[in-house]
Amino acid sequence: MITLGIESTAHTLGVGIVKDGEVLANSKSMYSPEKGGIHPTEASEHHYGNAVNTLKNALSKAGIQKEDIDSVAYSQGPGIPQCLQIAGVVGRSLSQALDIPLVGVNHCISHIEIGKSETGAQDPVTLYVAGGNSQVIASSEGRYRVFGETIDIAIGNALDKIARKMGIPHPGGPEIEKMAEKGSKLIDLPYVVKGMDFSYSGMVTKVVRMLNKHSKEDLCYSFQEHAFAMLVEATERAMAHLGKKEVLITGGVAANKRLNQMMKEMAEARGGKAYKAPLKYCMDNGAMIAYTGQKMLEHGVETSLDNSTTNPNWRTEQVDIPWL
Ligand code: AMP
Ligand code: MG
Repeated sequence: MITLGIESTAHTLGVGIVKDGEVLANSKSMYSPEKGGIHPTEASEHHYGNAVNTLKNALSKAGIQKEDIDSVAYSQGPGIPQCLQIAGVVGRSLSQALDIPLVGVNHCISHIEIGKSETGAQDPVTLYVAGGNSQVIASSEGRYRVFGETIDIAIGNALDKIARKMGIPHPGGPEIEKMAEKGSKLIDLPYVVKGMDFSYSGMVTKVVRMLNKHSKEDLCYSFQEHAFAMLVEATERAMAHLGKKEVLITGGVAANKRLNQMMKEMAEARGGKAYKAPLKYCMDNGAMIAYTGQKMLEHGVETSLDNSTTNPNWRTEQVDIPWL
């Protein structure tokens, strides 16, 4: 079966093509704001403007014609409402025009599924850390359940906010990582873990207030040390509670070396193993949507036109996963 998948939850318009579980194409076009963070209307205009080109690009990379596609998957949520519309409209239109099955995929779950398939992790606790999401997720009783998450802003968003105040363009995470490597003084910041949940807005405010008092390098270093320790603590608690030995890190912030090092140390100290999804699948992409959509269709899950509206607040634990 050949499945085409469309991603457009935030800054990336992605089109992936998967044949029998193998990725044939993973094309994308990324919106990057000239100033500030993601502007929803600008991002969605970017996606509309690039949908057809990206689609053609993916078809040519895969060496197929649109008539060869057997099914269509699209990211149905969660995400920025205006952005989600594009994958929804393109996916539903293709399904009707070509008269092939349609399946709406949960974006967060697709990060987990492609991460598992690429790393060989069997039943990990997943830390999904991105611009708009920060969740500790694990399978339990047929669904991916959220065991811990941010109670305010996502870690990627926190990094981007601090970067913006430092005059670094969006997305700021990679530059913060570079500056943190040069920092050495650990400045005390609010470390907020409540049960399995965590919070970043207080820490961002404190860093911003101290911009004139300390070097940017020391502030970035201190932010990373505190913020990542909170993520590792919540992940470790989930592992202990569930008796799981594997961790999978995915989402844009998974690119960070320090976060991976801390997670690896924790997992190995517990006799377990930390896996990082390949970078191209940590970033938003169409291949993960096609891959997960195909798996859902193979397990009898299909989305009718009546139920195909996009859902900006669609939560991970609301989806039945037949293979868990
Ligand atoms: P996503 O939402 O999955 O596309 O991920 C984007 C987020 O990842 C943005 O908030 C980036 O700042 C962040 N990010 C990308 N690379 C790094 C890095 N090396 N360290 C920390 N954060 C990063
Ligand atoms: Mg994502």
